Amino acid sequence: MSKIKMKNPLVEMDGDEMTRIIWKQVKDILITPFVDLKTEYFDLGLKNRDLTNDQITLDAAIRTRELGVAVKCATITPNAQRMEEYRLKKMWKSPNGTIRAILDGTVFRTPILVDCIQPFVSTWRQPITIARHAYGDIYSGSEMLIEEPCTAELVLTRPDGSVRRQQIHQFNGPGVLLGMHNTDQSIIGFARSCFKYALDLGQDLWFSTKDTISKTYDHRFKDIFAEIFAQEFQEDFKKAGITYFYTLIDDAVARVMRSSGGILWACKNYDGDVMSDMVAAACGSLAMMTSVLVSPDGKYEYEAAHGTVTRHYYRYLKGESTSTNPMATLFAWTGALRKRAEMDDLADLALFADRLQAASLAVIEAGVVTGDLKNLVRLRDVRVVDTVDFLEAVAACLTRDAQS
Ligand code: NAP
Ligand code: MG
Repeated sequence: MSKIKMKNPLVEMDGDEMTRIIWKQVKDILITPFVDLKTEYFDLGLKNRDLTNDQITLDAAIRTRELGVAVKCATITPNAQRMEEYRLKKMWKSPNGTIRAILDGTVFRTPILVDCIQPFVSTWRQPITIARHAYGDIYSGSEMLIEEPCTAELVLTRPDGSVRRQQIHQFNGPGVLLGMHNTDQSIIGFARSCFKYALDLGQDLWFSTKDTISKTYDHRFKDIFAEIFAQEFQEDFKKAGITYFYTLIDDAVARVMRSSGGILWACKNYDGDVMSDMVAAACGSLAMMTSVLVSPDGKYEYEAAHGTVTRHYYRYLKGESTSTNPMATLFAWTGALRKRAEMDDLADLALFADRLQAASLAVIEAGVVTGDLKNLVRLRDVRVVDTVDFLEAVAACLTRDAQS
């Protein structure tokens, strides 16, 4: 069988611990035997980030902007314990944060659904994708503990030194205070990424805030979305047969619970943080959640939603067999290959990505699963296998499909 050819390379960002091991296994067992893989490789493993003073992360992100598609392995975000473990020069920033800042993107998370795992919400037939605005609000807020009676104000200082003030609260005793912000530029980018991604998915876009209470702040989000939609996307949505729908966050929550899924739900930073965990948990497992960062100008970085699965890695290092679920990592690869295929007009590569995903789902439906899914699948015969055996079962299914 001749291998599928690629035109342009994609950016490949390697990572850490168990996911670094799975990364190579996925490539060796499921990608390179079938595809003449073209990637530009960037080693974002913590050792190499330290060695290059994190330049490697910047280089990978900048190259992603040029090539348009990247696939990323999970990486360690250093903390005090990692500083010691890896004897780091510095507590390097989260690679995902760095990449997000350079691509100015929005993160879209979608659960991988299989028939034999029922979401806890029984009406959900199709996955719900959460788009989380990944900039500002309480995540870059400024907070204060108030200890004595005082007047709290918002104070703006203009370049000419003139000020504008507005009272927040007259404290008669102790309390708490929070200041937060967002920028039009970031909200516009968020809106564009969401409209583009809805068109990509061919699914309705919902957007929710609390604009009845936050009449200026949240209302700005609502207005910007409405403007961008009217000016840039209304026609394309009509052509694609999809709709844009704005509603209050509490109404959205109630509607989502009664929906059959198959929607893209755009959320402000905090709402998206909470709701993506809710959707992941309701669908079974973090190991079955994909994630893609999309920039407002249409650059894509695919990854798994989970981390480096440290506990499994230490078992692996001791020589024990591990049953880590490679689905999210595999879907990161298929997502990136399909996007590369779309951009380069390569029908056989797109078909390969579809077939590989279908084969992996079929293996789970046949009852061959990794340990994390053991108690979730509703099948009479379930066989728990290790990661390599799972990937080999997918390869066998893929080869069988290709021959039939
Ligand atoms: P994690 O790696 O996602 O793992 C948390 C737990 O979830 C695991 O211990 C495991 O449970 C289960 N799990 C996650 N993925 C799984 C999979 N594919 N198959 C089976 N079980 C899976 O999160 P963490 O332990 O909080 O973080 C570990 C490291 O990852 C940290 O250094 C963190 O900085 C990094 N991280 C990176 C990213 C990223 O690059 N996008 C995201 C999050 C965290 P059991 O142990 O019970 O089996
Ligand atoms: Mg969260």
